[in-house]
Amino acid sequence: MGWPVDGHHPYPNPSRAEQATSGQCSRVPADGMSPVNRVILITKARIFRSRAQGAQWTMKIKFWGVRGSTPTPERRNARYGGNTPCIEIRLANGTLIILDCGSGLRALGKRLLREFGHNPINGYVFFTHFHWDHIQGIPFFLPLYREGDSFFFHAVQRKEEELKRAIEGQMVSPYFPVDTSAMQALRNFYDLDTSPINICGAIIKSTPLYHPQGCVAYRIEADGAVFVLATDTEPGSPAHDSGLRDLAEGADVLVYDAQYTPEQVRGEKKGWGHSSWLEGTRVALESHVRQLVLFHHDPDHDDPFIEGLVQKARRLFPDVVGAAEGMEVSLPEVELVRTFKVSVASRSRSSGARGQRTHAL
Ligand SMILES: [Zn+2]
Ligand SMILES: [Zn+2]
Repeated sequence: MGWPVDGHHPYPNPSRAEQATSGQCSRVPADGMSPVNRVILITKARIFRSRAQGAQWTMKIKFWGVRGSTPTPERRNARYGGNTPCIEIRLANGTLIILDCGSGLRALGKRLLREFGHNPINGYVFFTHFHWDHIQGIPFFLPLYREGDSFFFHAVQRKEEELKRAIEGQMVSPYFPVDTSAMQALRNFYDLDTSPINICGAIIKSTPLYHPQGCVAYRIEADGAVFVLATDTEPGSPAHDSGLRDLAEGADVLVYDAQYTPEQVRGEKKGWGHSSWLEGTRVALESHVRQLVLFHHDPDHDDPFIEGLVQKARRLFPDVVGAAEGMEVSLPEVELVRTFKVSVASRSRSSGARGQRTHAL
């Protein structure tokens, strides 16, 4: 599916995207991408910082919801958490990116209000798909009710109106006491294809995943750090499996759907659209990922069970953790992006020294 032809889409190519977002975020030098040959031309100057001097973070990732299917506010899930998917990304220039709007979005909204006070909040929201567990936090996201805040909602290969309806439909009568007219924040909706876009210096790519009604994985690359989210995906479709491996190539962090056990994926849950820790380790190894984060935990998997899955995964891929609410990953600044050339069709990516990541449960 190509870009909408009505002229309302602000991101017909990444250069336009940067124009559209300039003024709302700090600009990182970038020359954009050609929509024709899908080649990224960015200027890159390497500035290696001494670890002895203390590397600064360039991308912070925080998990606000990690549970799949439905919220599970139960004592037995206290460690990993019961809120459905929501991940916050912060770039070094302050840009706020939100991946999925499950019930974890509510707590993120409250934190943002405390952080910003009376200052306006600008956020770039990306949906993997519209299953309930990935949108149900929106009615409870308080910044949407504030005049002056701005949110830019993105989905891949959904027409703008469908995206708007999918997001706002859950608030029509009789499902919620107020409709979206109560939301005073500026809301814009963008239908993307799978071409890379530039959001305030972050190059964001996607690829389709095998899942009922469809889903996409996202790759966010900024300031030398690479984050990939691949949730709600079932292995076994060669085209999808290959596409995901290309997208995840060389990622610092891969967040992956590990809802089921390998036995369930092969047996009773075959065709349900989810994956396991075992497939996660395969993707991580084949795509040269640095750290694997198991995500979208099954509602019936309590803390000890999930911990057992993580331990099994560690035997095959040592750098793996289970996603937990409140967990943060900070990727250090080792390079300042100025120039490099990436063929989107290839697996090449920037290389260079990378520092330690930190985790806080
Ligand atoms: Zn889900
Ligand atoms: Zn789903």
